[in-house]
Amino acid sequence: MNLPLTADDLQARVAQLVACTEAEGPGKRFALWFQGCPLRCPGCCNPEMLLFEGGTPMSLGTLAAQLRQTREHHPDLEGITLLGGEPFAHAPAALALARVAHALDLSVMVFSGHTLEELRAQPDPVRQQLLGEIDILVDGPYLREQPETHRRWIGSANQRIHHLSARCDPADPRWFLPNTLEIRLQDGAVLVNGFPARAAVGLWKRPRPPRGETSSELSGK
Ligand code: SF4
Repeated sequence: MNLPLTADDLQARVAQLVACTEAEGPGKRFALWFQGCPLRCPGCCNPEMLLFEGGTPMSLGTLAAQLRQTREHHPDLEGITLLGGEPFAHAPAALALARVAHALDLSVMVFSGHTLEELRAQPDPVRQQLLGEIDILVDGPYLREQPETHRRWIGSANQRIHHLSARCDPADPRWFLPNTLEIRLQDGAVLVNGFPARAAVGLWKRPRPPRGETSSELSGK
């Protein structure tokens, strides 16, 4: 299966999109959370993104246009980060977006609940093509009992960082800085992304309250 660079007929089910963040991988990044995950990590950090229903369907043409626009506004944009949900459960859309990113000379970072070995063993050619487009893979299920305390952007100690291409430097000093959260107001809601302090785990996305009140949404991986 050979996917085009952009395909208006290809839809991504998007749980959340942050066009430019510094809390989801090295440098400024275009971060997209897919809606839907077949895994059930105990203490899942994004439980509102487990169901495949919901989210916002967006065409790859629209997403590609947003990515190009972000690149124009932020010439120092370094890459995209795909999270979820489970990006490999949305492989056609993730692959198309990864190809757009590489065409713009941006790196591709993916958080997957599957291990690299499990992903390499999967026969689906689209998933294998997606694997071939990833520069940095953070793999493995989130394990609440093994919270990561040293590596930036990583949820639990079992998760591994794989530099699958030479595009990104494993010794990049930004990997060793403290974690950060970003808080922004968007459409009347408070949106928080980045890896939270342990005390904040569990404050996940809440239904939007009646007009006049505030809501809190928290997304990480
Ligand atoms: S932590 Fe990620 S991979 Fe695990 S169940 Fe939640 S969304 Fe899926």
